[in-house]
Amino acid sequence: MDSDRQITVSRIFVPAMDCPDEEKEIRTALARLKGVEEIVVHLFSRQVEVRHRCALEEILTALRAIGMEGRPLGGALRHADIPEAVKAPLLAFWVSAALLCAGALLFLSSPSSPWPGWLFLAAILAGGGRIAAQGAREIRNRSLGMNALMTISIGGATLMGEWAEAGVVVSLYALANVLEARSLDRARKATADLFTFAPESAVVRVGGVGGREKAVPAEEVREGDILVIRPGQRVPVDATVYKGVSDLNESVLTGESAPVEKGEGDPLYAGTVNGRSLLLAEALRPLSESTIALILRRVEEAQARKAPIQTFMETFAAAYTPAVLAAALLVGIVPPALGLGALGVWAYRALVLLVIACPCAIVLAAPVVTVTALTRATRDGILVKGASHLEALGKVHSVAFDKTGTLTRGKLRVTRVVAADGFDEAEVVRMAGAVEAGSAHPAAEAVRHEARRRGIAQAARGTLARTFTVLEGRGVSAEVEGRRVYVGNSRLFEEIGSSFGATGLPQSAGGEEASRTITLVGTEQGIAGFLEMEDEVRPEAGEAVRSLASLGVRHVVMLTGDRDDVARAAGEAVGIEEVLSGLLPDDKLRKVEALVASYGTVAMVGDGVNDAPALALASVGIAMGAAGSPAAIETADVALMAEDLRKVPEAVVLGRRMVSVIRQNVVASLAIKAGFLVAAVSGYATLWMAVAADMGTTLLVIGNGMRLLKKTERPV
Ligand code: ADP
Ligand code: MG
Repeated sequence: MDSDRQITVSRIFVPAMDCPDEEKEIRTALARLKGVEEIVVHLFSRQVEVRHRCALEEILTALRAIGMEGRPLGGALRHADIPEAVKAPLLAFWVSAALLCAGALLFLSSPSSPWPGWLFLAAILAGGGRIAAQGAREIRNRSLGMNALMTISIGGATLMGEWAEAGVVVSLYALANVLEARSLDRARKATADLFTFAPESAVVRVGGVGGREKAVPAEEVREGDILVIRPGQRVPVDATVYKGVSDLNESVLTGESAPVEKGEGDPLYAGTVNGRSLLLAEALRPLSESTIALILRRVEEAQARKAPIQTFMETFAAAYTPAVLAAALLVGIVPPALGLGALGVWAYRALVLLVIACPCAIVLAAPVVTVTALTRATRDGILVKGASHLEALGKVHSVAFDKTGTLTRGKLRVTRVVAADGFDEAEVVRMAGAVEAGSAHPAAEAVRHEARRRGIAQAARGTLARTFTVLEGRGVSAEVEGRRVYVGNSRLFEEIGSSFGATGLPQSAGGEEASRTITLVGTEQGIAGFLEMEDEVRPEAGEAVRSLASLGVRHVVMLTGDRDDVARAAGEAVGIEEVLSGLLPDDKLRKVEALVASYGTVAMVGDGVNDAPALALASVGIAMGAAGSPAAIETADVALMAEDLRKVPEAVVLGRRMVSVIRQNVVASLAIKAGFLVAAVSGYATLWMAVAADMGTTLLVIGNGMRLLKKTERPV
């Protein structure tokens, strides 16, 4: 039974689809099939995405029936999978153009000869055969596409005896088809170039480190395999360095070509290139789950997402074509009927309107820009979920930064341990270390590191998994050796009503520095001591904040769960005046809500630790350092692959450029169409002008979109 079959989603590449009328044909043809649930058409990439229950073969057959060959696409990870569009035949253009020229020359030498006319007619037939055949197919498929319109136009002009002009229209149209297909293809290839970075092969040691070397396709590498990565080779899958030290070019992911030093235990990412020396590495996950695969999947999804302006233009185009056709009909009939002029004059104007009815440039105006902008962003290490997020970034009025892990490196270092009366430092570190074993917070990493440095044995923590709890934005707690131990900030200890003993803060605690975070350790009965930790402000943070200001994003705030004096010190270091400290994740959320209410479009930049709800609520959530975090790639609106805050202003600039180029395209395509509508009705436009203008607009729109592929200048 049909309905019992599972729904599958297939992507089919249809080389012959390059205009909205072909989209309509495909829609009509596929909608007729039983078991087709949904059809999404991506004109720019010439792909049809079908959710279907029926066999894929049925869909391909239906496409073939309307004269379109379809090629199903796999998860296009390999460049070879990026399909070539059919080469539009240039021959039709050359033949009809040659016949036209011959006719024109003959006419100049002997104006009275009948031969030029016959040559013009031959030009019409030579170039028009294909157009008429396709036009007939369109009409048969019940869609009045560009070819059908052109056939009527050219046929009409021929019948009216305008052979020279009809000949010019035929060859211009043939040329337009070729040029448009080529430039669209170039744009499409440029955006598909990202996929060449997917690694192809790997060298593994069969049976472990000492094993024999064997080359295998990258897809076949399994978790735990030992990889040999020679200088100049691409890392085949995400892995961890097992032996060796080398520099890697990670520009594939981050857009930054400065080499990154890697040694034992460091993560390697599939697709990045090994520099000077040999590395042995242990595969962390298969290629299909590696960061680059996630990114490429994300990019595909993002390109497939339609921005609101794109949907608007498509809706507009859907109404535009029938409206112009109706106008053509009226222009051809009404004025002559009212005795306002000869039938021939108005019929000719109606034919010009038919040419102008093609919505190609209108429909391409937006997607050709969004896709190139998304490509540019990915190349710069800015992974965006969809063009609408890029658009929102361009409009941002206010940016909120999380502190720990975002404005600071989030690599805390314990600078001092202070024990309360009756405890010693080792005991404080031991208790803290036992609880923090379960936490992923940067503070926890610092505590664990300190415990290791001091050679402090870990406390028994058999019950850790069962008793460990996170007190968001305050700290953590767990049962250690029968007592519940808390590790966190002073707020946490206020909440549980615990304080230092009668002696108050230990004597040695004086002179603490404002820039240092204090992590207290204790139980409900009392505080045993604290660890003082230092974090480092990212060197580029100040520049990023200044760039935002120079872009007119005046309102920049810091949201943090840390102490006020620590937060202020960091704010001063990076140039953020408005600092909101002591916030719980919920408070961050409410603050972002308030910002959205007063500033409209707000971006929140965070590292995903304790700020995920705020990231989700902001108009645009930006996650830092996503190369190491698959979750961030999946969920953030915008994921910065490199830990470089300057990418934030860069993304704002790209968003603005995208919006302004889309605006130019939309205005240009609509204005040219509108101008020609008026010119056609008032008799100033000829057929060949309309064809040339239509071609010109399409090429203009594509060329303008391609400008975005150029690197975004870093704002100062
Ligand atoms: P930020 O907003 O700066 O990123 P968080 O919201 O992650 O900070 O945490 C707020 C505060 O809670 C931290 O400054 C720290 O004092 C405390 N805290 C949170 N988690 C832990 C933990 N696992 N160990 C110790 N302290 C913690
Ligand atoms: Mg944080």
